[in-house]
Amino acid sequence: MKNKNSKSPWFTFIAVIFVLTALWATLKPEDFFAEQKKIETVSVSEMTKLYSENKIEKIEVKGKEIAFKLKDGEIKKTFKEENQNISDLGLLRDDVDTQVEVVDTSASEFFVGILGDILPFVIIVAILVFMMKQVQKGAGNNFSFAKSKARLFSVKGKKTTFKDVAGCTEAKNELEEIVDFLKHPKKFTDIGAKIPKGVMLVGSPGTGKTLLAKAVAGEANVPFFSISGSEFVEMFVGVGASRVRDLFEKAKKNSPAIIFIDEIDAVGRQRGVGGMSGGHDEREQTLNQILSEMDGFEDNANVIVMAATNRPDVLDKALMRPGRFDRRVIIDKPDLKDRIAILEVHTKGKKMGKNIDLEKIGQMTAGFAGAELANIMNEAAIYAGKSSKKSISQKDLVIATEKVIMGPERKSRILNSKDKKVTAYHEAGHAIVAHLLETPDPVHKVTIIPRGMSLGSTWSIPEGESFNYTKTKLKEEICVLLGGFVAESLTFGEPATGATNDLERATKIAKNMVTKFGMSSIGPISFSDSGNSFLGVENGIHQDISEETAKKIDKEVHGIVNEALVKTEKILKDNKNILKEISEALLEKETLDSGEFKTFFK
Ligand code: ADP
Ligand code: ZN
Repeated sequence: MKNKNSKSPWFTFIAVIFVLTALWATLKPEDFFAEQKKIETVSVSEMTKLYSENKIEKIEVKGKEIAFKLKDGEIKKTFKEENQNISDLGLLRDDVDTQVEVVDTSASEFFVGILGDILPFVIIVAILVFMMKQVQKGAGNNFSFAKSKARLFSVKGKKTTFKDVAGCTEAKNELEEIVDFLKHPKKFTDIGAKIPKGVMLVGSPGTGKTLLAKAVAGEANVPFFSISGSEFVEMFVGVGASRVRDLFEKAKKNSPAIIFIDEIDAVGRQRGVGGMSGGHDEREQTLNQILSEMDGFEDNANVIVMAATNRPDVLDKALMRPGRFDRRVIIDKPDLKDRIAILEVHTKGKKMGKNIDLEKIGQMTAGFAGAELANIMNEAAIYAGKSSKKSISQKDLVIATEKVIMGPERKSRILNSKDKKVTAYHEAGHAIVAHLLETPDPVHKVTIIPRGMSLGSTWSIPEGESFNYTKTKLKEEICVLLGGFVAESLTFGEPATGATNDLERATKIAKNMVTKFGMSSIGPISFSDSGNSFLGVENGIHQDISEETAKKIDKEVHGIVNEALVKTEKILKDNKNILKEISEALLEKETLDSGEFKTFFK
């Protein structure tokens, strides 16, 4: 076990003092609203009156204490009964735009209780242990347990709806039903249907899982409580479970409601998977608490728990049992049509110039998730803003896209002349093959400026779109990928290591053609673990295929790659002069755009 704690006794000492002070500051009840000392206390009815007159800007509920800020800036407070909640007080009205925030105090109450009962030195010991644990984990946020991170997104204000989510048609259709359950539970319970308790949203990062969950809450007009699984991991043992209890408590009080647990794999990992040797107490307790809360829902609780993960493969099976997260909604990476729609959604609120061609951007961004597309739009706006333009032009969009695709240009990395020459022939090889074959995407740009990913143009095959590709197209994509390798071999007599990534991708496509798409003489049999292939996880071919079949697959994969190699060699040999001309132009200019590139083919 590592012990970074032995660094300096002073560090520990100062940290203890610091923790004690911070804890004390949090625990003293009269300090809950530090900024509001000596503020006027009014009666609850006074407050609700002001509320219904829509004079309050913001309400903050902490335990029994309610502080509120009037629209004219004045701050007042009042006290409610222990067991009253904000809906009892009528603070969830639609027609009032007050922001209502419930701040969790249960963790602090828990400590207040202990303070009363147990001697202070026990606390000091506990804090020391806690700190050591934290230091060992290398985490800096020692005080995070004192406040709940469950956030209540109030029903008021700007709602997220399905309109804000572009694409994801199937996911939205499935979630419509959840909206219906939340809106009209009686319709279902009356005929004896059980309302589902849990929905698992599965998809790569940035595909809009959080956004969809918020949209469900928005569509159903219910409060949205969210917390992230990763927040539980670094916590004091017992706090995670108590926070879960508290979160469900709050949601039930505000039902109908949605609880959203992001990154559930952080707590819901199958025991003994992912290098988690032994039980992780906190993780396990938190998970058990989530499960028992869900099991304990009465049939009419009308709280639906939505969880998100990009690692469904590592989740504990107990999570998926009937009555828990038994509904699974898969969110794929967007296809071209959806990418364009997502870009469109994110033009909202931005000043777009004339002649914007989002389709072009969509074509350039195969394999991107919604978050990256949103990022492109923002980068374009920043770029336009930097040059003090009035609106965003197509050029800004293209630059932003290139930046996000390839990482910022690294002009500083100077290639020596030999490397530069090899790169020029390599990139020219890709581009020529892409240009001369039927199906690959047109060459957008060829460059030898080193980038995060040193391709002249993008011709990647996103797995999520593989259903769009014919056998011919896949074979030709392999040719394009081999183009760099072949051009180098033809020109310099031997290939260099620069083609490693190309070869990997080419082989992967060939392998998928054989094991996934049924595009070989083995026939339409899938050997791959299709369960998570959309996640971009390398397809684990099933262990249980026979050695003979494995040999056949190998042979087919080789066959495909070899055929492509022969074809690519022929193309580049036949166009040796063009290869030379383009490479030389690249050496001189470093970048050729599609127009310049085409002139070499007359
Ligand atoms: P996840 O939870 O799956 O990691 P998020 O929901 O946090 O992804 O998505 C991040 C951001 O990406 C969103 O806030 C939104 O701006 C954008 N985004 C993702 N998917 C979509 C989509 N289908 N339509 C519109 N915007 C999207
Ligand atoms: Zn290459």
